[in-house]
Amino acid sequence: MDTKNQTIPSLADCLKAASETKELRLKRDVFSDVPDLLKSFFQSSQVYLVADENTWKAAGIRTEDAIRGVGIRIAGRHIFPGEPRLHAHYTHVKELIDLFKILPDYSSCTPIAVGGGTVNDLVKRAAFELALPYLCVPTAASVDGYTAYGAALLMDGFKQTVPCTAPRVVAADTDVLAKAPAYLSSSGFGDLASKIIAGTDWIIAEKAGSAGAPAAEPIDPVAWNMIQPGLIDSLNQSVQAARGDGEAVQTLFKGLAVTGFAMQYIKSSRPVSGAEHLFSHVWEMEDLSLNGAPVTHGHKVAIGTLSATAFTELFFADPSGPPAAISGWKRPSRAEREAEVAAAFGERPGCKAVVKAALEKLVDDKTAADINALFRDSWHTIREKVLERLLPYSELKALLGKALCPLVPETIGLRRQDIIATARKAQMMRNKYSILDLSWNMGNFESILAKLEASDVYLR
Ligand SMILES: [Zn+2]
Repeated sequence: MDTKNQTIPSLADCLKAASETKELRLKRDVFSDVPDLLKSFFQSSQVYLVADENTWKAAGIRTEDAIRGVGIRIAGRHIFPGEPRLHAHYTHVKELIDLFKILPDYSSCTPIAVGGGTVNDLVKRAAFELALPYLCVPTAASVDGYTAYGAALLMDGFKQTVPCTAPRVVAADTDVLAKAPAYLSSSGFGDLASKIIAGTDWIIAEKAGSAGAPAAEPIDPVAWNMIQPGLIDSLNQSVQAARGDGEAVQTLFKGLAVTGFAMQYIKSSRPVSGAEHLFSHVWEMEDLSLNGAPVTHGHKVAIGTLSATAFTELFFADPSGPPAAISGWKRPSRAEREAEVAAAFGERPGCKAVVKAALEKLVDDKTAADINALFRDSWHTIREKVLERLLPYSELKALLGKALCPLVPETIGLRRQDIIATARKAQMMRNKYSILDLSWNMGNFESILAKLEASDVYLR
C-alpha cells in the first residue's frame, strides 16, 4: 500500500468502522449525558457500577448521581480497594460475575466500568461472559485498551490477552482525565507512541508476507488511515497531557480510543502493536515492578518503543544493504529452536504459548531464503518506506521526555543488558511478523544487539 498519501478519517467514520463501540462521548461534564446514553444505546432498566476507591471518588459518585432519579434502577455497586493497586487478575472477573448473577433479572442490567485500564478489563471480561453490553467511564488516558476487543488479564499464572467485546459506549469526561495522576497520562502517551513501530513493522510484515512469511498481513488501508496519518500530530498535541492540560489529554484519549476502533474493525492487534509491545509482553510475564508496584503497561511500552526504534535504525543504517549475517550463524532446526525457547523462558507459566508461537513462525529454509532475497533486492525502496514513517530515535526521545515518559531502562528498574536479554526473548514471542523476525531470519539479529549494547546513544 502507498503509505505516503493518506487521509485522516473523522471520528464518526472511525466509529462506523468499529464493530462493537457505537458511541464515544468525550467532553466536559459528560456525566449529564450518561442517562441519555443509557436509554439510547442500552434499553436497560438497571445498572451496576464497578470502580476502585480512587476512581469511585474521581468519577463514580458523579456517574451514580447523574443516573439517580431518571427511572433507571441502581442495582448496586462494587468498589475494589484503592491500595494496593488493583491487579487484572481473573479471580476479580469471577467475583464480578458472581455479584451480577445474584441480581434479580441480571440480563436487563448494564454494567458500568468507572476506572482505568484494569477496572475496564475486569468489567469487559465479566460483561462478555454474561453476554451484557457495558458502558465505560474512563478515569485516565492511560492505555489504548479501553476500546480494544480483548482484555489483558492474569490467567493461569501469566498475563494474556483474552477475547471479549469492547464497550458499547465510552463516556469520557475531559476534566476527570486531566486530573488523573501524571504517571497514568504519561503511560497513555507511551502506548500511543508505540503506534509508530506498529506502523513500520506493518510495512515490513507486508513485504515479508509477499515472500511467504507467516502472520505478515498486507496493510489494510482503512485501519492504517485510522491510526498512521495523524499519529505524529496527535503525539505532538498530547505532550502536555501528563501536566493536566485539558486539550492535550483530550487529543491523547481520542488517539488511544481510535486505535481500539481500528482493532475492532480489523479483528487483530496488527494496526496497534509491533516489536515494542513484545518487549512489554516479556516484562509482563516477568512481573516487572519497581519499589513494590508494577510498572505500568504504557511505561514498559515507552521503553519498548525506544528499544524497537533503536533496533530498526540500526537494521536500516546502511543505505547500501542490510547488516551482514553474523558469521557461523545457522538457522536452528525445530527441535533446536524448541530447546532454545524453553531454556529462555524456563518454568514460567506461559512458556508453552511462547514455544508454540516461536515454532509457528519458524519458516523453512526456502521461505527464509526468499524473504532475505526480497529484502536485499528491494533494500532501497523498503528502507526509504520504513524510515519515512519511523520517528528518528533522538526525536522520539525528546517527545517522550516532554510527555514525562521513562527514557532509560533504569527508570523502570532495568539495566541496559536487560534490554538486550529481553530483545532475544521478545523475538521468540507471538507469531506476528516484526523487525525482530526479519533480522533473525537474515542472521544479523545478534550483530544488531551487539551494536545496541555498545552504543553510547541508544538507551542512555
Ligand atoms: Zn498497549
